[in-house]
Amino acid sequence: VIPSKTHIALLASPGFGHFIPVVELAKRLAGLHGLTITLFAITPEVHPVQDELLRSATSSWPGLINTVILPYEEPTFPSNVDPVPRMLAMIRSVFPSLRSSISSMTEKPIALIVDHFGTEAIRAVANEFNMLKFVFICTNAWFLSYNLYLPYVKEVIKRGEPFYIPGCEPLVGDDIREFTFFPEYQTHKDFVHIGYDIASSDGILVNTWDDLEPETLLAFKDTRFMKRIVKPPVYPIGPLVRTGEPTGAKPEIFRWLDCQASGSVVYVSFGSGGTISTQQTIELAWGLELSIQRFIWVVRPPIENDSAAFLLTPMENDADGLISKYLPDGFLGRTRDMGFVVPMWAPQEEILAHGSIGAFFSHCGWNSSLESIVNGVPIIAWPLYAEQNMNATMLVKHLGVAVRPEVNPSKELVRRDEIAKMVRRVMVDEEGIGIRKRVNDLKERAKKALSEGGTSYNALSEVVKKIGD
Ligand code: UDP
Repeated sequence: VIPSKTHIALLASPGFGHFIPVVELAKRLAGLHGLTITLFAITPEVHPVQDELLRSATSSWPGLINTVILPYEEPTFPSNVDPVPRMLAMIRSVFPSLRSSISSMTEKPIALIVDHFGTEAIRAVANEFNMLKFVFICTNAWFLSYNLYLPYVKEVIKRGEPFYIPGCEPLVGDDIREFTFFPEYQTHKDFVHIGYDIASSDGILVNTWDDLEPETLLAFKDTRFMKRIVKPPVYPIGPLVRTGEPTGAKPEIFRWLDCQASGSVVYVSFGSGGTISTQQTIELAWGLELSIQRFIWVVRPPIENDSAAFLLTPMENDADGLISKYLPDGFLGRTRDMGFVVPMWAPQEEILAHGSIGAFFSHCGWNSSLESIVNGVPIIAWPLYAEQNMNATMLVKHLGVAVRPEVNPSKELVRRDEIAKMVRRVMVDEEGIGIRKRVNDLKERAKKALSEGGTSYNALSEVVKKIGD
C-alpha cells in the first residue's frame, strides 16, 4: 500500500463504453488502493446518466475522487464520417483545457491513465508534465493484440484471407474490421498511431482476466515477437463492470421483474450506441413475440444503414412516446403481460443482476459482454459495430456462452423465425443448459480473479506499486 496522498489522473473518452469502465477503475483505485484521483470526463454536454455516474464516483469515496468535466468541440467534418477520427478530433480539442487544468493544480498527478482513444494525450500532455503513462483498454486482450500488431503488418490484408494475430485465433470474414483492408483509410492510420502510442506507455491495463484469455495474454510476454515490439507490461485487471447503486424507491421495471419467475426474462439491448433498421425492428418485435418468452426491450428509433448511430450523439429521451410507432401494430397490447418496453436507456447492470433475467440479447460491446458474464447470464449475440463481431466469435466459439444468427445482423436482415429460434435455443432447449453452466463457471472465475489475492486484484496492485515506486 502506498501513501494515500498519491495523486493520479484518469481521462475518459466520450461514449459510455469508455466512460463506465474508467469510472469503475477510478473507484477501485481509490477504494482498494487509497489513491487520490482526478477523473477528467470528455463530454458533449450535461447528460443525466453521465451526471449520475460522476456523482456516484465522487460520493463512493469522498475526498478521494474529484471529477473535472472537459467539454469538447464538435468536429467540423460531417457527422457521417467514421466514428474513430471524429472521436479523436473531439478528444484532441480538450488538450488545451486538460493542460491548463493540470498546470493549475498545486499537487500535480504523477500518472495519467487514458483509455484506448485517449492515447494521444500521452504525447500531447503526459510527457510535458513528466507523468507516468498507462493505457486502460476497455475491451479484451484479443483486440489489444490486434491493435498492437497492426503497425507491423507489412502486407495488405485481403478480404477472404485469414488475418493472423499473435496469441489469437486467425480472424476471418466480418471479424476483421473493415479499415484493416485499407491502409489509406484514416481509421486505419489512427489505429496504427494508437498502436504505437500504447506501446510507448509504461503499462497497459486491460479489462479481461488471466484465465479468460490465457493464450493471448501469454503472447504479450513472448520475447520472440510481441515483447520486442511492446515493451510495457500488460496487466489483466478485469472484469471491471459498473456496480449498481442501491436506489431508494423501486422503479416500475424492477417491480415487474420481481413478479417474474427466476431466469424467465430475456433482456434486449444494443449498448449505448446501437441501432437497427425499421424492418429489423419489426422482425425483432415479431421474433420476441413468437418465442413466447418474457422480455425487457430497450427500444430506440430505428435508423437505416448506420448501426452505431447513437454512439457519439447524446440521446434524447422519448418524452413524446414516439418509439411505439415503429413497433408492429398491436404489439404492445398483445405483449402487455409478457414484455416490458423501455425507451432509449435502461439501468442495464441492475437489470442483468436481477434473478429473473435468463438471457441477454446483446450487441456484444465488451462492457455488455462482461456484465452478462459476471451475472451468469447467457448471451444471444447480435454484433453491430466496432470489434463486436470478434467479441461474438469469442463468446460463441471459445467460451461457449452465446448463440448467434447465421447472418451478420449489421449487414443483413435477420428474420423473425430465426430470432424466435435463437431465443428458444437459450431459454427453452437443452442447449441452453450447457450455455448456462459455462457462463456460471466464468462468473465464478471472474469473481475469484477480482477478489483479494486473485490474479486481477494482484495485477492492479502491481500497477499501484509501479506508480508509487
Ligand atoms: N448501458 C446502460 N443502459 C443502456 C445501454 C447501455 O446502462 O440502455 C451501459 C451498459 O451497461 C454498458 C455500456 O452502457 O456498461 C455500454 O458499453 P458496451 O461496451 O457494452 O457498448 P457500447 O455502448 O460501447 O457499444
